[in-house]
Amino acid sequence: MNYNIAVLAGDGIGPEICTGAIKVLNKTGQKFGHTFNFEYLPIGGAAIDACGTPLPDITVEKCLKSDSVLLGAVGGYKWDDMPVDKRPEKGLLGIRKAMGLYSNIRPAKLWPSLAAASPLKSELVKNGIEIIIVRELTGGIYFGERGSGKENGEEFAWDTEKYSVHEIERIARIACELASKRSKRLISVDKANVLASSRLWRKTVHEYAAKHFPDVEVVDMLVDNTAMQIVKNPAQFDVVVTSNMFGDILSDEAAQVTGSIGMLASSSLGDGTRGLYEPIHGSAPDIAGKDLANPIATILAAAMMLRDSFALSKEYDAIVASIEKVLKSGFRTADIYEEGCKKVKGSEMAQLICDNI
Ligand code: NAD
Repeated sequence: MNYNIAVLAGDGIGPEICTGAIKVLNKTGQKFGHTFNFEYLPIGGAAIDACGTPLPDITVEKCLKSDSVLLGAVGGYKWDDMPVDKRPEKGLLGIRKAMGLYSNIRPAKLWPSLAAASPLKSELVKNGIEIIIVRELTGGIYFGERGSGKENGEEFAWDTEKYSVHEIERIARIACELASKRSKRLISVDKANVLASSRLWRKTVHEYAAKHFPDVEVVDMLVDNTAMQIVKNPAQFDVVVTSNMFGDILSDEAAQVTGSIGMLASSSLGDGTRGLYEPIHGSAPDIAGKDLANPIATILAAAMMLRDSFALSKEYDAIVASIEKVLKSGFRTADIYEEGCKKVKGSEMAQLICDNI
């Protein structure tokens, strides 16, 4: 098969980590008989410098024609003083909106070989952890009606959480699809003991799953309990679906228990199979151009693209197995280095992962 991938390398370490991921995709393609065609397009600070805008029309146009999109990272000191609507990050928000992406999937994976990096006790994490949070991205309190005023001489402000059945069903579909390919257990997080929007959330997720994914068991968990359980017993989680605000908070908590930002990937999806795949970290200007950046988060993002946009699960598994093997053999980039391991550059790490596919 032939796949067309738009590459938005961006700024800072973006180009280096994308180069590593593309190398791994090419090797996987050779091994499994696929051709990946890459088209490089400007975004972020690099696009400001080249075209005067963080998201040129050509980038949007080509992304919408591609089979999927790989993103490095945007931003850097050079553009820090620009007005908010002209900053590199605006390119990221713009491309998500243009592609109609309403879900964000962030797997917080702790690899058994890196268990020492977790701030949790070793007995809780010795077998590794993988918590996949599916967060609704375009609704809820961040986009609801809001306002402020003055009453009896005192200032007040308010925000509203509003979800429609349609918005809940479409995120439930993405979470159920993922859960049905994995443990077939989906934890749906809400605050249904207090919030009306959460009660609709709960009812809709159950009805949707029962009708379309009868093989997936839906388990409800209140958000306060979830925050506690992530640090108490992280191994109980597989796929978790939740609203925009709860997902924002819980995905950062889950990422933190893995202890390593250079290892975590994320994807954003909408209707259809085209998605935007990226590492969760930023452009790390402090280490850019030094071949110090860990490419694994971006390689995992590329692997997620194969599984979730192109339905190439065996290819995903091959990349993950290769990363596992390289880590088990003791190779580490500087950010995950421990005493007794073999320190390698970012490009060497990408090459080792290619060699083991
Ligand atoms: P950052 O994630 O870029 O860096 C935080 C720390 O983690 C730094 O010390 C960095 O060296 C390290 N780090 C990050 N990725 C690494 C990797 N792959 N390997 C090794 N070490 C790594 O966050 P920041 O410093 O707050 O932000 C830097 C720039 O990135 C800012 O301009 C910010 O706006 C932007 N940013 C972009 C995105 C994005 O493109 N999605 C996300 C977050 C921040």
